[in-house]
Amino acid sequence: MRYDPTNIFARILRGEIPNKTILETAHTLAFHDIHPQAPVHALVIPKGAYVDFADFAANATAEELVDFHRTSAKVCEMLGLAPGDGFRGITNAGVNGMQEVPHYHLHLLGGRVLGRLVEKA
Ligand code: AMP
Repeated sequence: MRYDPTNIFARILRGEIPNKTILETAHTLAFHDIHPQAPVHALVIPKGAYVDFADFAANATAEELVDFHRTSAKVCEMLGLAPGDGFRGITNAGVNGMQEVPHYHLHLLGGRVLGRLVEKA
């Protein structure tokens, strides 16, 4: 899938719409989800234009990859997810993954027991 620069996270990165920032680095932005699905629900996004996990993992620079994951770990620490009672990291992709925003993002959820990963069909 081609990257759509009008997606809402691209607009956040351009400063066109506000966000509740948790942590920002040279390559990564972490902010609170606008419709939290758990007491803690953060999103971590690369600043680069990557559609989904597979695109990011295949095409990001080593510096971007390291920064994204170290920032995610720092956010887990800042929000009390790890160390703590545990959390879930989720990334949705495409139609089957029911991805709404076509800019790669990692959901970090915690603060309660989250249930099973996938509902039975
Ligand atoms: P996904 O279905 O994995 O693409 O998830 C997209 C997520 O982005 C959802 O959890 C939305 O609540 C969240 N979201 C959409 N718009 C915003 C926004 N402006 N600020 C923060 N989170 C948002």
